[in-house]
Amino acid sequence: MEEKIGFIGLGTMGKPMAKNLLKAGYTLTVFNRSTFKAAELKELGAVVAESPKEVGSRSQVTILMVSDTPEVEEILTGKDGVLAGVHPGSVIIVMSTILPSASRRLAQVIKTYGCEMLDAPVLGSRRAAVNATLTIVVGGEKAVYERCYGIFQVLGRQVFYMGPQGMGLYTKLCNNLISGVVMQAVSEALLFGQKAGLDLQELIKVIIQGGDRTLTMEAKGPSLLARNFDTHFPLKHMYKDLWLISTAAGELGLALPVTTLVRELFGVAKVAGLGEKDFSGVIMIMEKLAGTRLKEG
Ligand code: NAP
Repeated sequence: MEEKIGFIGLGTMGKPMAKNLLKAGYTLTVFNRSTFKAAELKELGAVVAESPKEVGSRSQVTILMVSDTPEVEEILTGKDGVLAGVHPGSVIIVMSTILPSASRRLAQVIKTYGCEMLDAPVLGSRRAAVNATLTIVVGGEKAVYERCYGIFQVLGRQVFYMGPQGMGLYTKLCNNLISGVVMQAVSEALLFGQKAGLDLQELIKVIIQGGDRTLTMEAKGPSLLARNFDTHFPLKHMYKDLWLISTAAGELGLALPVTTLVRELFGVAKVAGLGEKDFSGVIMIMEKLAGTRLKEG
């Protein structure tokens, strides 16, 4: 018999992921802080719980897809949190991008309830969540991972077991370190090229076809020239992730000077009101510093 699943956090990513679990035939109980976001899931057959505690009590596997570390902690350990209702033997899967050390600490707390935890953050944005083509990177005990593998297969196209608790999150943070720093590099290269008088369409073509071939230039170069900042991955999440990376590196006694500088630029962009825009919007801060805008083309 398939496990009963609980799903908490029906935002940009969580809602389509929960829908995919329903479509696959799982029995689903959902909860979201803003209750209106659960209405569509209810129509599709989900039970809408009144609290995370109720989700825990109705589920054998509870998935969290909320924003950040404090929210995950509150939803698990708060007065009406998942742990107040959970049955021994249940699994809690945190798919949010949070601090790896917090994931390890929470896993210890969860063990005292006779339950297990996996961290399973995702690579890919909303479109991949809708199309169930996410890449899922998992940390935790291998046997628990194997128990949950069928669920991951419904949500994503590629699933990687990365090792003990926290390792899924470290993997995700390494990936986003590259995405953030390369986004900044792409912004600088385009402004540099424009200042030098290059044809930016040609420059992008050369870099994609015969040069550095970064995925970020391929995906973001043309949309930057079109001044299209429609959100694929929001800038506020990139800033959060860069902050998580600096904090996690600090815990390991490691300095990441370039990442830290790029984090600050994303921080300035967020303060400037660009948090809900795509993370490529960081170029607008570079344009201010350069005293020029990318020409549309
Ligand atoms: P989102 O659209 O902002 O949704 C966040 C969810 O968290 C909402 O359901 C929100 O509830 C809930 N939440 C926030 N604070 C809460 C609190 N204090 N108590 C209870 N619920 C709370 O975020 P998202 O884009 O789906 O991202 C979710 C996670 O996935 C993040 O960790 C993000 O870094 C990661 N991620 C996102 C993407 C992406 O492209 N968006 C890609 C990969 C990974 P309300 O509806 O009430 O606000």
